[in-house]
Amino acid sequence: MNRPYNFSAGPAAMPQEVLTEAAAEMLDWHGSGMSVMEMSHRGKEFIAIYEQAQLDLRELLAVPDNFKVLFMQGGGLAENAIVPLNISRSGSADFVVTGSWSQKSQQEARKYCSVNIAASNELDGRTSLPDPASWQLTRGASYVHICSNETIDGVEYQTLPDLRALGSDAALVVDCSSHVASRPLDWSCVGLAFAGAQKNLGPAGLTLVVVREDLLGHALAVCPSAFNYKTVADNQSMFNTPPTYAIYIAGLVFQWLKRQGGIPAMEARNQAKAALLYDAIDNSQLYVNKVAPDCRSRMNVPFFLRDEGLNDAFLTGARDHGLLQLKGHKSVGGMRASIYNAMPIEGVQALVNYLHEFEKRRS
Ligand SMILES: *Cc1c(COP(=O)(O)O)cnc(C)c1O
Repeated sequence: MNRPYNFSAGPAAMPQEVLTEAAAEMLDWHGSGMSVMEMSHRGKEFIAIYEQAQLDLRELLAVPDNFKVLFMQGGGLAENAIVPLNISRSGSADFVVTGSWSQKSQQEARKYCSVNIAASNELDGRTSLPDPASWQLTRGASYVHICSNETIDGVEYQTLPDLRALGSDAALVVDCSSHVASRPLDWSCVGLAFAGAQKNLGPAGLTLVVVREDLLGHALAVCPSAFNYKTVADNQSMFNTPPTYAIYIAGLVFQWLKRQGGIPAMEARNQAKAALLYDAIDNSQLYVNKVAPDCRSRMNVPFFLRDEGLNDAFLTGARDHGLLQLKGHKSVGGMRASIYNAMPIEGVQALVNYLHEFEKRRS
């Protein structure tokens, strides 16, 4: 079946193979006589699905043994509260604000601990990343929060900062919601990483948390039990009912990623896709992306038409060409093409062809 190419920022396009598999197994999973969404989370069928998903994710992301992998609910925004509820025991945390998401994170954390803005790219219009050597870190802060890919602003860290090299023993907290599994992740720099599943891992409703064991067990007294990382870890993510169907679909995505050659293969593809699209934008007279080339996101490519009066015509034409959900986030306007793992290079090529064609028609 030929479906349109879907550039949604999230919930986002899924690998078609995964949707086909899920459809085939919808009424009867592996001869169990049940749909996965009808299974007890404590039954042997679902436990097998859960354990395979855990193993596959650990293998794909090369998660070291001293980290726990938690499948939670609440999404990325809930983690903005759940993180300080669990790991702000010194009473303070540092934030590097590089776009809309890290801005929201620091705002929410203020309810639970004292917040210091260690660096910001606000003055240059969210188009660059402040050099870690310039960050104003607070002595004794429990953690330093970054958003490693700003989904709305299209700014991405190409390497993670090493806090120890900056003289800090705080834990690095990474909101990697919109680029997890698109490239390898250097765990030696990380204390905790979290991601809502709906960009690159599966359906909305599942939140991935990968947390270093020494950070567990220090939650604030008011932390809800269902959101206490230690409680969740001690119960294999089944303290309460986990989002079972979303875990199952994410598990199918992990298997798909392994068949594609794993994360290094995805990274190479993602590099090629992003280069194709940025080149088309940079070489045009009509489209513009203002982010500094060394921190442009490979996953989320925001761009503007120099004549904003053409926006509606551009989007209507795109839909007619089978290119969906290209409208930019309401807070910044313009356009945004999200090209996560599930977007094939053919989809990016189709978009690039359309960009050329639309520009030629107007000149
Ligand atoms: C999408 C996104 C979130 C999302 O949060 P939800 O609570 O799942 O809506 C958080 N952080 C980033 C960087 C995102 O892209």
